[in-house]
Amino acid sequence: MAIASASMSTQAKAATDVKGKIVIIGAGAGGIMAMAHLRSKISNPDITIISPNETHLYQPGQVFIATGVYQPEDIIMNNNDFIPSDVNWIKDEVKNIDAESNKLTLRNGEEVSYDYLVVATGAACNYDWIEGLKKEDIGTNGLSSVYLSDFEKGTADGGSTGWTWLNDITKEVESGKKPRVIFTQPRTAIKCGGAPQKMLCLCADYLKQKKLHTEMIFTTAGGKLFSLKNVADELQKAQDSYEGMSTKFKHNLIKVDVKNKKATFHYIYEHKDEWGVESMEEEVVLDYDYLHIVPPMSPVDAVRESNLVWEEGAEKGWLEVDKFTLQHRRYKNIFGIGDVCGVPMGKTGGSARHHAPIVAKNIISAMGNKPLEEKFDGYTVCPLKPRYGEIIMAEFGYDGPMPSIPFWKDISVPRYSWWIFDVYMLKHMYKHLMMRGLM
Ligand SMILES: Cc1cc2nc3c(=O)[nH]c(=O)nc-3n(C[C@H](O)[C@H](O)[C@H](O)COP(=O)(O)OP(=O)(O)OC[C@H]3O[C@@H](n4cnc5c(N)ncnc54)[C@H](O)[C@@H]3O)c2cc1C
Repeated sequence: MAIASASMSTQAKAATDVKGKIVIIGAGAGGIMAMAHLRSKISNPDITIISPNETHLYQPGQVFIATGVYQPEDIIMNNNDFIPSDVNWIKDEVKNIDAESNKLTLRNGEEVSYDYLVVATGAACNYDWIEGLKKEDIGTNGLSSVYLSDFEKGTADGGSTGWTWLNDITKEVESGKKPRVIFTQPRTAIKCGGAPQKMLCLCADYLKQKKLHTEMIFTTAGGKLFSLKNVADELQKAQDSYEGMSTKFKHNLIKVDVKNKKATFHYIYEHKDEWGVESMEEEVVLDYDYLHIVPPMSPVDAVRESNLVWEEGAEKGWLEVDKFTLQHRRYKNIFGIGDVCGVPMGKTGGSARHHAPIVAKNIISAMGNKPLEEKFDGYTVCPLKPRYGEIIMAEFGYDGPMPSIPFWKDISVPRYSWWIFDVYMLKHMYKHLMMRGLM
């Protein structure tokens, strides 16, 4: 695999001579990839990136930390390696976006103006939207969440506390107890929609390899294990291979009694009788010994509280961009990339990788007053892990499956090769190719 060096300049290839100040908010996967693509395509670009975090977390690796495959340091990268000196990096947080006057206000009170804006602020984890729960509770009282991280501090405690949590469960089962372990998935869109089930299956397999099992319940606000039937069937097959595992559909976690270990779910179901079908709802309380929480997600406050989000529809609350061009539908000098985008498909690093060249080329067209020709095809990828050593690489887009290896047409097949790729190669491709706009 060709690996580009950190100092490699892509400026030599740049050809387009368009003018304007481009500001990118967020230096995670999407922001860095947008920056790299813009920088390689514009001669003498005027790019500012605003993000407080020097540490760059390779978030997909958090699942591997929580299941003992990676060490915490394996996912720590450094934005100084990705942001070159000709890009103006403001290490601060955007507090307010004023799209009418093309101005941002920072946490330190300063204002930054832009001609073109790329919103790349990702998805925020809202633990406190669950009644009775605080972010600080994760890692205590049998609670875990692989999503727990702090970008500014550069910590991904969800991984390390998750691994301790799994070992606590294991010890209890080894001692002859049968603790009840619940894994949740919320009603909101989440980044990496497959991560809740990755945790479920890998935790069960960790026990199974020690010839152990316990009661594991997957509670999801959704009504299916996956949107594509063949993948859902394969996930069901995996669940059936674990003794003690079951799923409760349409159960959305709304409250946690941390001290007494009780989880309350909003349960929606249909009641059928001779009079017809009626939609019913009720609160269901389940006792648990261990609870893995996937929090409800939304854009970060600066975006959520701006006038840039969808006010209705399936993407309500997320950045109102066109699902093909990724241009804001009302403010034509604003584009979105990554998890913040209110588009029907996927909040994954894989989607952000496909967004990046599209956003860059469409911004350049907008700067040159040309029509936007690049169209996002909805690509997303979910490396589902039914057990250690196997991955179902579910790649799909607006029009259905999009396998990146064409002769592996059936994306629902669990493969050892994908496990090897995900564990040993992808992180390096992310760091050396994707973050430099080379892939
Ligand atoms: C546990 C887990 C497993 C995952 N597994 C996979 C996987 O297997 N495959 C896959 O493709 N994807 C996976 N993902 C998803 C992937 O990590 C994200 O989709 C990807 O990081 C999205 O990039 P982003 O730039 O939109 O957001 P992020 O990478 O989250 O970056 C957001 C950036 O914005 C900054 N920011 C936020 N608010 C502000 C503000 N107000 N001002 C300035 N800066 C701000 C943050 O500091 C951060 O740098 C996983 C994620 C998690 C958490």
